[in-house]
Parts: sequence; structure tokens; C-alpha cells
Amino acid sequence: MLDQLLNRAENTGDLSLEEIEQLLNLEDQSDIDSLFACAYRVKTRYVGRIAWFRGIIEFSNICSKDCYYCGIRRSNSKTQRFTIPEADIIESAVWAWKAEYGSVVLQSGERSDPAYIDMVERLIKEIKERTNGELGLTISLGEQSEETYQRWFDAGAHRYLLRIETSNPELYAKLHPADHSFENRVECLRRLRKVGYQTGTGVMIGLPMQTTRHLAEDLLFFKRMDIDMIGMGPYIFHSDTPLIGYRAEWEIPAKKLLNLGLKMIALARLLMRDINIAATTALQALEHDGREQGLLAGANVIMPNATDTQYREAYQLYENKPCTDENASMCRGCLQRRIEKIGEQIGFGQWGDSPHFAGRVKSSGL
Ligand code: SAH
Ligand code: SF4
Repeated sequence: MLDQLLNRAENTGDLSLEEIEQLLNLEDQSDIDSLFACAYRVKTRYVGRIAWFRGIIEFSNICSKDCYYCGIRRSNSKTQRFTIPEADIIESAVWAWKAEYGSVVLQSGERSDPAYIDMVERLIKEIKERTNGELGLTISLGEQSEETYQRWFDAGAHRYLLRIETSNPELYAKLHPADHSFENRVECLRRLRKVGYQTGTGVMIGLPMQTTRHLAEDLLFFKRMDIDMIGMGPYIFHSDTPLIGYRAEWEIPAKKLLNLGLKMIALARLLMRDINIAATTALQALEHDGREQGLLAGANVIMPNATDTQYREAYQLYENKPCTDENASMCRGCLQRRIEKIGEQIGFGQWGDSPHFAGRVKSSGL
């Protein structure tokens, strides 16, 4: 039964909502391992056994939004706010380029005031200039107007990550204040594509009130939106957020949550074969080799932290974030060893765009 289902998924990439849900609910470890092995074969065939590095620079935790799950939400007065000086952000990017990361991600809390928009534009231009246009640049700076997306694109950013968080509008409404709009977030994903970004999205896994049916719907949402990249990871409770009251009832034990995150990666690979899928840092927060397990379940992107260590402690979207006290080069060294140990290569010095994006641009004649 399971073999038949996996065989079909491997050959066609088609699975119904019910079948996805059934696979997410697998409990027997040898069945789960068959799912991972199947996704790994599809990964090998479509994107190869290469892990692309994106050095992530989390440059500011100042945020105008108030998402109920997030440690750096506007109303959390316990967080000490910072913005890394521009020169230091640029140095981190140049460091990543010299370390042959190929690509960096700039991420921060959400702001849309003119001073911030100008600063990001300057940063993008300067980073491009200082790295001879060689460093790939992804940004993850929340919901913005089309004009702002266009300005940052014209400055040199070419990929954008905007998680939908959950594709279920009712669940979205429970996790955000009333003035945060699900429709606007979906619209932003459309805007990003229109401007020309390689567009990535994702969800948190293990949210309070979230069911496996919701997660199955999330995967079909990604497919319907024809996205180029996915960055999704486990939700981790943060004590200074309103959702903490749900912990006792909804927290999933670490091992089970890790498995659920890995199943989501494997199913995303089966359904959307040639996209980029990240094994996120939050997986590593659950088990020390969580990211390597992510690669073995079908992910092909790793996002080592390239933020200056002195600022890491304050960028706590969730608690017990790994590597907050290591410096960036230690992260590089330890990751390289771990990845080579599982028989994969690191795509040093290249952007590592998703083949899906190349295909999409080609077929639209752009
Ligand atoms: N402000 C931007 C980017 C920074 S937040 C934005 O919201 O798009 C990046 C991601 O962190 C969010 O998309 C969310 O999925 C994730 N996140 C926030 N709180 C989290 C938590 N408690 N556990 C796991 N992931 C979390
Ligand atoms: Fe701000 Fe992003 Fe956190 Fe929401 S998830 S509060 S937008 S940093």
C-alpha cells in the first residue's frame, strides 16, 4: 500500500490532500524512513546532492508588527532592540563572500518607513558593489509595497523569502492581531513574482491549533502558488509571547516535531521536485544534527548564521536558538564537516538558484 503510493509520488509528483495527510500521519519509523528515502531519490534526480549555503544576516530586531508567536514582536518590552550599523552588515556580507558562501540572506523585523527603505536600498547596492556583483542576495523583510519591492530588486536583490506562516485564513487570524492581513500577505507573494524575484515562502510547523490537514493544505498552497523556494521549520514557543498560554495543551515533543518537520520537507520535495528547500536552523534547535537530517529528507539549502555574534543573542524569534554564541567561521567549519559526513557536497561560490525558477522564466519568455 505505502510502497505503491510512494512509487506513484516518485514517478509523477502527484498526491491528493488525503494522501498527503496520510503520509504526514505515518508513525512507524520504517515507514517514515521509506518516505525520506523516496524524497531523497527525487532530490538526487532533480537538484543533485549539493547543499547550497546562504549566510543569514539578521540585522535588526525592530519590528512594527505584533505576530503572537514571535519573540521580537513590537509589544515584547523585554527584548533589547538593535540595528547593526550599516558598515558592520556590509562586512558580514563581504566575509560570507570571501568564505565562498555564494549567497546571503538579509533578514530583519518589518519596517516600512522611508529611512528604513532607503537604508536597505543602500545596503543592497553597497554589498553588490563590494562583492563585484558575485554574491547572491536574498532578502526577507516582510510585507512591502510593490514600489519598495521594485526598488530593492533594482538595487540588486534577486530572491525574496516571505513565509505565509499558515495557508489557512482562520488559523492565520488566530495567530495575528486583527490588523494583520492574510490576504495582503498572499498579495505580497504575487507582487514579488511580478517584480521578478525568485519567490520563497513557508510555514511554521507545530503551531497551536494547527492540524495535519492544515499542513497538507499548506503544501498544496505552495504548489498552487508555483513558488521557487521553501523555508519552513518547527514553531518553537517563546515565553514572552501571548501564545505561551497554549504551550501545555499544544506543545509537540521535540522528537515528534522534528519528524513532522522532516516529513513536510520530504512531501514538499515529492510534490515540487525542482525547487529549493531549506533545512532551517529551527530544525537544529530540536536535535543537534536536525539540518543534516533535513538534507537527507529532501532539503538542498542550509542557512548558516553569518551575523556578528555580539548581536545574535537579541535576535531571538524563539528561545534556545542554536549557534548564538559561536562565531560565524566556526559555524562554517562545523557545518562543512557535518555535510561531507552525509556524503553531500557544498555548492561553494555559486548562487544555487532553483532549477524551477529557470524553467519558469524560460517558459514565460522573460
Ligand atoms: N519580519 C519578517 C522576517 C523575520 S521573521 C517576516 O515576518 O517575514 C522570520 C520568520 O521567523 C517568520 O516568518 C516566522 O515564520 C519565524 N518565526 C517567528 N517566530 C517563531 C517561533 N517562535 N518559532 C519558529 N519560527 C518563528
Ligand atoms: Fe515581526 Fe516577522 Fe516577528 Fe512578525 S514574525 S513580529 S513581522 S519579526
